[in-house]
Amino acid sequence: MKAHDGIYLDGAWLPAASRDVIEVVDPADERVIAQVPAGGAEDVDAAVRAARAALPGWAATPPAERAARLAALRDVLTARKDEIAETVTAELGSPLAFSRAVHAAVPIAVAASYADLAARHPFEEKVGNSTVLHEPVGVVAAITPWNYPLHQIVAKVAPALAAGCTVVLKPAEDTPLTAQLFAEAVHEAGVPAGVFNLVTGLGPVAGQALAEHPGVDLVSFTGSTAVGRRIAAVAGAAIKKVALELGGKSANIILPSADLARAVNVGVANVMSNSGQTCSAWTRMLVHRDRYDEAVTLAAAAAAKYADRIGPLVNAAQRDRVRGYIEKGVAEGARLVAGGPGSPRERGWFVAPTVFADVTPDMTIAQEEIFGPVLSILRYEDEEDALRIANGTVYGLAGAVWAGEEAEAVAFARRMDTGQVDINGGRFNPLAPFGGYKQSGVGRELGAHGLAEYLQTKSLQF
Ligand code: NAP
Ligand code: MG
Repeated sequence: MKAHDGIYLDGAWLPAASRDVIEVVDPADERVIAQVPAGGAEDVDAAVRAARAALPGWAATPPAERAARLAALRDVLTARKDEIAETVTAELGSPLAFSRAVHAAVPIAVAASYADLAARHPFEEKVGNSTVLHEPVGVVAAITPWNYPLHQIVAKVAPALAAGCTVVLKPAEDTPLTAQLFAEAVHEAGVPAGVFNLVTGLGPVAGQALAEHPGVDLVSFTGSTAVGRRIAAVAGAAIKKVALELGGKSANIILPSADLARAVNVGVANVMSNSGQTCSAWTRMLVHRDRYDEAVTLAAAAAAKYADRIGPLVNAAQRDRVRGYIEKGVAEGARLVAGGPGSPRERGWFVAPTVFADVTPDMTIAQEEIFGPVLSILRYEDEEDALRIANGTVYGLAGAVWAGEEAEAVAFARRMDTGQVDINGGRFNPLAPFGGYKQSGVGRELGAHGLAEYLQTKSLQF
C-alpha cells in the first residue's frame, strides 16, 4: 500500500519532527502493509500555525470560490474512487464491494452536497434593523475514528472548508492511509496551502495536543464517549466550541403491524454491515411478544448468511472487546441463536455474526455499545413498554420503526429520544442532520445543519 512518510503541512508533505511511526495492519490477515509518521506535539503545533496563518485568506475567499474547490475535491474523489475503496479495504478490512458502495460513494455524495451548499448558503441575513453575518468559527481540530474512515473525515472537513474555516486533521491510528489519500485529493483540488493540514498520530499524543492547542477554535470529534468526555472538558475549560459525535445503542422497533420478515432482514443487515462497527447501528431489535419467536428464527437465519462474507474487526483489541461482550451476554443469561465468542478463522480479527435472544433491558449487552456484529433481540408487551425499552439507555443516536402504516411508525418515532429514525427502512440522506440526543453527542453533522456548526454570527445594527 502506498504511504507518505511525512505529514501534510502548509500544502506540502514534510518530515515529521517526531521520529515515531505507526505500522498499518491489514485486519483480514494481520500483515503490516505500511508505515506512517506518528506525529507529536511539535508537529501538531506546526500544523495549527499553518492553519491559523491561512485562515484570514480562506475566510475572505468568496463562497463561490470555496464551492469551486469543493466541487474539484468531489471530482478528484470520484476519479479515485477505486483507489479509495482498495485503501479502506486494506486498512479497515471491509469487503471490497462494501468499500465501493459505502466507504467511497458516501463521502463523494457528502463532498458534492457541500460544493452545492457552499455556493447557495446565505452567509448574510437581514433581521429587522440588523444584518447578520455568518462567519467562520476559525481553526478546526478534526479528530476522527476508523469505522468509516473517509466519511468521518469528509463530514467534518467539507463543511469546515465551505464555512471558510481552516483545518488540522488527526485521523484514527488504524486508518491513516485513507486520510493521506484524502490529503492528496485536497491538494489536487487546488485548496490553498495551510487551509487543510494532516497530522497522523496517536490519540493520547497528537489527538490530545490538538484538542488542547490554544490556536484551535473548534474541536470536532467522532469516537468513543470516554474520549469525547475528556475532549469536552478540555474544550470547556478553554471556552472552545466543541462538536461530539459519540456512541450509540440504537433500537429497531418492529410494531405488530409491520412486515416482520422485511423488518428483521433489513435489521440484521444493518447490524452486520461494516462488521457491526457503525455508531448508528440498530443493535437492539424490539419485537412484540406475539411475534417474538418467529422474529428470532428469522434473525438467526439471516445472520447465518453473513458468516462467510463478513469482514474482520479493525484490530485485535476491538475483536477481544467484542468477544468479551459476547461472553458477558452468555453469562448474564441471554440465549445465543447465531454465532458466539469462538474465532471463525485462523488469521484475521474475525468475529462470527452473532444474535442473542431473551435479552432483557438491564443486561450489559442491551446497554453498552459493543461495536461488533452482535444483535440483541428484546421482547416487549405493548407500545408503552417498547418505548420505555427504546429510550432506556444513555444513548440516542439513531433508530428504526417498522409498522403497517407510515403514520403509525411516525407517531412512535416522535416519542423516541434519538437524533434520527428510519421509517420502514428509509434510505440514508446525506443532507439530513446526523447527531445524538443524550450521551450520543453534541452538535450535528451533514447538510446545512452540519455547515452551521462551523459558523458564528456577527450582528450589525443600522
Ligand atoms: P477513540 O479512542 O475514541 O478514537 C477516536 C479518535 O480519537 C481517534 O482518532 C483516536 O486516536 C482519538 N483519540 C483517542 N484518545 C484521544 C485523546 N486522549 N485525545 C484526543 N484524541 C484521542 O475510539 P476507538 O479507540 O477508535 O474505539 C473505541 C470505541 O469507540 C469503539 O468500540 C466504539 O464504541 C466507539 N467508536 C464510536 C465511533 C462513532 O462513530 N461514534 C467510531 C469509532 C469508535 P487513536 O486512533 O490513536 O486511538
Ligand atoms: Mg483509541
